[in-house]
Amino acid sequence: MSLPKCPKCSSEYVYEDGNLLVCPECAYEFSANDLDEQERIIKDANGNVLSDGDTVSVIKDLKIKGSQSVVKVGTKVKNIRLCDGDHDIDCKIPNFGGMKLKSEFVKKV
Ligand SMILES: [Zn+2]
Repeated sequence: MSLPKCPKCSSEYVYEDGNLLVCPECAYEFSANDLDEQERIIKDANGNVLSDGDTVSVIKDLKIKGSQSVVKVGTKVKNIRLCDGDHDIDCKIPNFGGMKLKSEFVKKV
């Protein structure tokens, strides 16, 4: 298993000390769990953590910019992909095609 670089100074000389990882160059101590938590966590309307490949359903009618179409409440969206930005879910909706949704308007199925 290779150790991660120091998140503070990017030193490659991080070593393990019990459960902690220690950087000899800046003396920063951290755990591998801390590193996981630094990943962006995207939650649905109920506070459930979403991940790539999840199926969600839309919890309110969503108007689609520049068209008269509305994605109806209850629409199921399969195989979502999380992304950065204001709209943090990238997905394909049947009959609509690829679009981006806000995680606050969906819930995990
Ligand atoms: Zn360091």
